[in-house]
Amino acid sequence: MSRLQQIIKAREDYNIDDWGAGYYAINDQGFVECYPTGDPEQSSTIHKIVDTARQRGVHPPLIIRFPQIIASQLARLDQAFQRSIAEFNYSGGHLGVFPFKVNQRREFIDAIVSCGAKYNYGLEIGSKAELISAMSYSLSRRALLICNGFKDEEFIEMACLAAEIGRNIVSVVEGPDELQMLLDRVGVTNSIPQIGIRTRLYSRGSGKWQNSSGSTSKFGLTIVELLDCLKTLKERGCVDKLTMLHLHIGSQITEIKKFKNALKEAARIYSKITKKGFSINYLNIGGGVGVDYDGSRSSSPCSVNYVLQEFTNDAVYVIAQVCKEENVPEPHIVTESGRVIAAYHSLVVTDIREVQAPTTEASSWLPDTKTHKSLVELRYIYDHLNQKNYAEYYHDAVEYHEELATLFNLGYLDLDERGLAEELFQEICRKTVRFSTIHKRQVAEFASLHQNLVSKYLANFSIFQSIPDAWSIGQLFPVMPLSRHQEKPTHEANIFDITCDSDGCLAQFIDRREIKSVLGLHSPSTEPYYLGFFLVGAYQESLASGHNLFGATHEVEVTIDNGRQTLRITDGDTVSELLETRNFSKKALIARFLKRVEHLQEQNKLTPERGQEIISLLKNYLKSYPYLHC
Ligand code: PLP
Repeated sequence: MSRLQQIIKAREDYNIDDWGAGYYAINDQGFVECYPTGDPEQSSTIHKIVDTARQRGVHPPLIIRFPQIIASQLARLDQAFQRSIAEFNYSGGHLGVFPFKVNQRREFIDAIVSCGAKYNYGLEIGSKAELISAMSYSLSRRALLICNGFKDEEFIEMACLAAEIGRNIVSVVEGPDELQMLLDRVGVTNSIPQIGIRTRLYSRGSGKWQNSSGSTSKFGLTIVELLDCLKTLKERGCVDKLTMLHLHIGSQITEIKKFKNALKEAARIYSKITKKGFSINYLNIGGGVGVDYDGSRSSSPCSVNYVLQEFTNDAVYVIAQVCKEENVPEPHIVTESGRVIAAYHSLVVTDIREVQAPTTEASSWLPDTKTHKSLVELRYIYDHLNQKNYAEYYHDAVEYHEELATLFNLGYLDLDERGLAEELFQEICRKTVRFSTIHKRQVAEFASLHQNLVSKYLANFSIFQSIPDAWSIGQLFPVMPLSRHQEKPTHEANIFDITCDSDGCLAQFIDRREIKSVLGLHSPSTEPYYLGFFLVGAYQESLASGHNLFGATHEVEVTIDNGRQTLRITDGDTVSELLETRNFSKKALIARFLKRVEHLQEQNKLTPERGQEIISLLKNYLKSYPYLHC
């Protein structure tokens, strides 16, 4: 296969053209490139970014951010809505808000606010801490600040304050008590926020977060509670305060049908409330637009069976249809998309530290032994195992293998014979796996056998810190080497991280058709071999756990302007910064070390010079990066 043919194969095997969304691709030299603005003329080779960072003293693991991708995603969402609004002659507009919890890094929110200004983009918050930071931003007059989540008196007071300092704030009521708390502020404070009501729809979402909606969800008001709230608003003379109806059917909605059903129901509720004399401006349809992590464009949990334009077309069309039927005004459509705005903008890069590969096949060592009958039988199986009999012969081999282990325990085999038995059995397993993979669908038994025979690649990062969803909910992210795509991968691999936790392992990988249990990787050479974990910009940093005290990695922010690339580097957490988060103060630790050194000096076990050296070494360790150094 030529270099170019191998590159074309790599593009298919890693499916990068489908999940890359025009932002990531493999170039003709076999390197992964990023096009942060979506323009193929403005490219950045990711391997080179890592090399440049290394020249500046910053080593993997690191997170690479492309803030221009955030701007591009905001533009794609807005443009899709504008096209749908024009196509269906819709009289309302679209207003987006970014949910703070999806990526709370200040740099990220700064980018949302500055790139989103031209679309009147706002923020969605779900806690008091998020509210305080969100209300500090100067958003445009039309941009919304939406408070979701459960609230107490203090939360409501803060929302009132935000209204008083001129923020276009809506407090979304999650339960009847919250409405009382809000209405009790009327006349007490200078201003109160606009009021929204989150409705608990009968329609459910799909995928992992489907419990965010449906009649058993913990969120929102039932129709009975909603009617009660409308009555209260009327009784308290606050009809004009209700400006938003809100729904959110879950994250990563895999099927467009789920959106359509929910929107039909929500638009109907909106219309009926309007007919009761309330003038609701905003129909907030929440988040949930999914990311096609595997590029399969299917309804599998890590994909979606629709594109952005289909989503906006359906949203606008369904709402318009219902409003027409009910003869009510078309509301502004508010979206709270988080994942689809944030996911693409960052990737994590790690270096490979070690490869544990099973021994490679070599027939010369095979035993020609007559020592024990079971060993001879194993050899016979190895020689005669074929496409037709592999399942039966493999099962026989398992029995002989167990028998030989028992014979060894009873003292009938020596260590060399035990070794031969192990090697023979490994080879039989390998042959079995090879024959079993010829079938389109590998039987579960042989799939797990396959798993035991793959190479283990030790990657210098923490799954719990950098891609926590991979551990907690089995989320799949695209993973691939950043270079050498002109070479055929030599290993079928699983990935292990450097935490002392057996869960720190990746054994499932994206594929266009079905989930793969192995990833094709190359043999590391003298050159650094980097792996990229892509589409990690949503939720991963917010949920990072610092397990094993591996903390935030170094960051490299990359922007391209007229072909000129600029890198901005931020150092990751140091050992002492991480220890501080667990209440181990740097000062107290150094004091303890000093005490120990003084004690040893008093006993003449340490010279004063060595004592000083030890203290300065310990101080340096406290300043260091906790991941493995080059
Ligand atoms: N709005 C609300 C109320 C949410 O709970 C969430 C997250 O689940 C979102 C918006 C963002 O959803 P997504 O990131 O799937 O767009």
